[in-house]
Amino acid sequence: MDAVRTGPPPVPAAAPDLDGNEAAYAAAAVRSSWISSSGAFLDRFEREFADLCGTRHALAVSNGTTALHLALAALGIGPGDEVVVPSLTFVATANAVAYTGATPVFADVGTADWCLDPDAVRRALTPATRAVICVHLYGQPADVDALQRICGPRGIALVEDSAQAPFATYRDRPTGGLATAGTFSFFGNKVITCGEGGAVTTDDDALAARMRLLRSHGMSPDRRYWHPVIGYNYRLTNVAAAILCAQLERHRPLLQRRREIFARYEARLAGAPGLRVQADLPGRRRTPWLFSVLVDEEVRGESRDDVIARLADAGLDTRPFFPLVHGFPPYRQAAAGARLPVSELLSRQGLSLPAHPGLRDDDVDRVCAALLHER
Ligand SMILES: *Cc1c(COP(=O)(O)O)cnc(C)c1O
Repeated sequence: MDAVRTGPPPVPAAAPDLDGNEAAYAAAAVRSSWISSSGAFLDRFEREFADLCGTRHALAVSNGTTALHLALAALGIGPGDEVVVPSLTFVATANAVAYTGATPVFADVGTADWCLDPDAVRRALTPATRAVICVHLYGQPADVDALQRICGPRGIALVEDSAQAPFATYRDRPTGGLATAGTFSFFGNKVITCGEGGAVTTDDDALAARMRLLRSHGMSPDRRYWHPVIGYNYRLTNVAAAILCAQLERHRPLLQRRREIFARYEARLAGAPGLRVQADLPGRRRTPWLFSVLVDEEVRGESRDDVIARLADAGLDTRPFFPLVHGFPPYRQAAAGARLPVSELLSRQGLSLPAHPGLRDDDVDRVCAALLHER
C-alpha cells in the first residue's frame, strides 16, 4: 500500500483549463457526425483566430510542429537553403527546418528579451539564407521590426514561432500578424489548447493558398483526387476545433487570471538577490505563459537545478529552460563553431514556475516561499 501523503497537494507546472463549453462543443461535433477535417467549428476557429491575430488567413493544423513545417514548405525552402533559428527554443523549431532538407543556422538571443538578437542574425546570414524563424520565447515577443529590417530588403522570409505567445503584442500589433507567417501550438501545456493542434497565420494570399494545398495531400482545389504536388496530411479535426472555439470564448479571462498570477510572483520575487524575473519591455506586451526567472548561483548559493530539486521535494513542479538545440546529437556537428554565450547562460540559469489559471493564490505563495527559503 502507498504511504499516506500528507501536506498540501502537489502543484503541476502546467494544466489545461477546460471548464467552459469545451466538453459541450466537442460533444456537439460528435453528434453532428462532422468529426474529420471539415465542419463548422473549423471554419469558426479559423475566422476568429485570424481576427485575433489581425491577419487575412489562419489555417488550423494538426500541431505546432506541422504548422512550422507547412509554412517553410509553402515558402519553398529546401535542400541547400539555410534558415536562421535560435538554439534556445523547443526542438521543433529546428526540426521543422531539417524536415525540409534545409540547414538550421543557430544564432544567439538577447539578454533583455531572450529572443533572437538582430545583430546575431545579421552575422549568421549567408547567400543561402532563405528564412529566419524568431521564437517569441516564454511569451515575450521578439524584436520583429528590427528583424524585418534585416530580412525584408534581402527577400528573406521572417516566420514567427508563436507557440508560446498567442495574443502577445508588439507595438500594439498581435503576434502571428507581424511577419511573413506566424505559427502556433495548442498542445496541452500552452495558453490555449485542444490537446494537440496548431495554426498558421499570414496576410499573403498566395502563401495561404499554397499552405492549404500542402495541408491536405496536395489535392487540387479545382479537381478532386488530383494531386499536382506532394502534400501532407496536416489537418486538424472538427472535434479539436470545437474545443479551441470554447477556449477562444474564454481566452481573455484565462489570460487575465494568468496576469494576476504573474503580478503576484513579481511582487514577491522582483528584487530578491540573485533572481531576475523576465523583463517587461517598452512596446511589447508578453503573454503570461510560464513565469520565468534566472537563478544566479553565485549570489544565491544554489544552482537552478538545486532549486528545481528542492521545490520538487515540496511537491512544486517547475521547468528548467530548454537545453540548447545546437547541442543535440543531430545538430552538434554542423553547429560545432557556434558561439552562443547568452543562450548558454539563460539555458543554465532559467527556471519556469507554474502560472496556469487553476492555481490558487496560496499555491503561488507556496512556490515563492519555497524558492526564497521562507517558511
Ligand atoms: C510547443 C512548441 C512547438 C511545437 O508544438 P507542438 O504542438 O508540440 O508540435 C514549437 N515551437 C515552440 C517554441 C513550442 O513551444
